[in-house]
Amino acid sequence: MIAENLQALLKNLPKEIQLIAVSKTKPIEAIEEAYQTGQRHFGENKIQEMAEKYEALPKDIFWHMIGHVQDNKIKYMAPFVSLVHGMDKEKRLKALNKEAAKCERVIDCLVQIHIAEEDSKFGFDYSEAESLFQKNLKESYPNIRVRGLMGMATFTDDKEQLIREFSALSSFYKSTQALLGADEFNILSMGMSGDYSLAIEQGSNMIRVGTKIFGGRN
Ligand SMILES: *Cc1c(COP(=O)(O)O)cnc(C)c1O
Repeated sequence: MIAENLQALLKNLPKEIQLIAVSKTKPIEAIEEAYQTGQRHFGENKIQEMAEKYEALPKDIFWHMIGHVQDNKIKYMAPFVSLVHGMDKEKRLKALNKEAAKCERVIDCLVQIHIAEEDSKFGFDYSEAESLFQKNLKESYPNIRVRGLMGMATFTDDKEQLIREFSALSSFYKSTQALLGADEFNILSMGMSGDYSLAIEQGSNMIRVGTKIFGGRN
């Protein structure tokens, strides 16, 4: 089923949209099945689980940390992670920069913006993010590269609300890109199984899809 699900999804996906297959909680065999169809970008939300899967699987996979990041676990992913989506506090940028330096890497990351109405989702408010981007992040954190923004919309069926949340994030992305330039700052990660079509309509260029590929999680 995984191969069929992926093919169906990719068939209708514009070429410029990067698909992250969210394999959290799923076994190695499920990832292998997706890998065999050509999928190379996978997303996990627990650092140790991602590190175990990294060890067991081919080394040309791009690993995305899409979950909440605990500073004391960054060291387990710093040697190999491809993109860290959940930079939700400045102290987290600092912690990632430190571990990246130890590995002599420059690690790509996204600043997470709190766009949902639920309190439980992490991220910067727009005003906090605006002040963050006024700073010279390259100078303060030479071992990380902020590549764009990530957001998670409210868990709701209300289309109008989803559109409002995605379009607000998209405008903030565009204004930040105007400030920083588009050479490095060019990723907008928004959209999951239930809402990725709306997210793409609002300007997303990276979607994180789990259930629609791998089936439900317990
Ligand atoms: C689990 C998760 C997803 C994927 O969710 P699905 O609804 O299964 O597609 C996307 N983004 C984040 C941050 C997640 O934690």
